[in-house]
Amino acid sequence: MSELDVVVIGAGPAGLSAGIWARTLGLRYAIVEASPVSGGQLRRVYNRVVDYPGDTFAGGSELADRLARHAESLGVVVRTSHSATAVDLETGIVKTGDTEFDTRFILLCSGVRPRVLGVPGESEFVGRGVSPSASRYAEQFSGERVLVVGGGDAAFEEALILAEVCQHVTLVHRSGCFRARSEFQSRVAASERIDTILFCELVAIEGEQTVERVRLRRGGEEWTTGVGGVFVCAGVVPNSELVAGQAEFDDSGYVAVDARFRASHERLYAAGDVRSGSSLTIAAAVGEASSAVKDIQRRIGSNRG
Ligand SMILES: Cc1cc2nc3c(=O)[nH]c(=O)nc-3n(C[C@H](O)[C@H](O)[C@H](O)COP(=O)(O)OP(=O)(O)OC[C@H]3O[C@@H](n4cnc5c(N)ncnc54)[C@H](O)[C@@H]3O)c2cc1C
Repeated sequence: MSELDVVVIGAGPAGLSAGIWARTLGLRYAIVEASPVSGGQLRRVYNRVVDYPGDTFAGGSELADRLARHAESLGVVVRTSHSATAVDLETGIVKTGDTEFDTRFILLCSGVRPRVLGVPGESEFVGRGVSPSASRYAEQFSGERVLVVGGGDAAFEEALILAEVCQHVTLVHRSGCFRARSEFQSRVAASERIDTILFCELVAIEGEQTVERVRLRRGGEEWTTGVGGVFVCAGVVPNSELVAGQAEFDDSGYVAVDARFRASHERLYAAGDVRSGSSLTIAAAVGEASSAVKDIQRRIGSNRG
């Protein structure tokens, strides 16, 4: 097993950008991606993408396909359906199900995943009333009463989409103020079909075959209300477990890095949504990964030279 210069974990925008730079800078690299397709969270963006320089895109998949095709055209190889299962920063060994890589550096581009609330019924009713995305599944809830959980842009966007087809949308948020952009807040406030409840928590999702009702709590009061669908938009958590205990994290589990995207272990870099302080945008992910690869090339170059 010969030593690679860098193993990139994840092939979202950050990982694909890393691949393009690793390939064009002549590094010996491997990119492993857990999903069968590259693109990361872009595959879950169903609205128009208007803020990535160069063009606008009908949805995230269109941009993901464009990024993947660009990488492919340069000869970048992404090993899809290869989930990194173990990383040893001391030895530089990265394991996937059937492969082991020996590498000088590791660039973590593993992004984030939606936060699970962990309330009773949440996992049991996935696909039977609990849905990950209103943009994609709204039509299935036509004429229903539904619940949206969360207080950020995603929750407000889901509520607005659902209000177009549903009889009524209740949006609950556990804290005392919403984080969503003011444009979304004004539109929700103006909608006759959306009610918002602050300081309100989802306690349980109940039903027989499909979701029929939810239990909600506000202060000391708990009540049940009938809904046919539940959309949880309660933020995200970083996919950083692979290096837990081997590098410094911030309080929320994101990988701490310096201005060159170096983590506290000399072998590790992190770029994109998984790193502490990221702006959680496509443009940042792409730029950060390219900076990290250039820094790796500089360190390898000076060592080889
Ligand atoms: C609904 C929605 C709308 C958005 N809209 C916009 C927008 O309009 N503009 C904008 O700039 N941003 C938007 N974003 C945010 C943007 O998608 C992210 O900032 C961006 O995708 C981050 O890229 P990334 O490569 O860091 O991580 P991700 O896109 O999360 O990619 C990480 C990849 O790593 C893989 N992975 C994880 N663990 C492993 C492992 N152990 N082994 C191998 N692979 C692994 C994952 O499968 C995934 O493919 C939106 C996000 C969502 C969810």
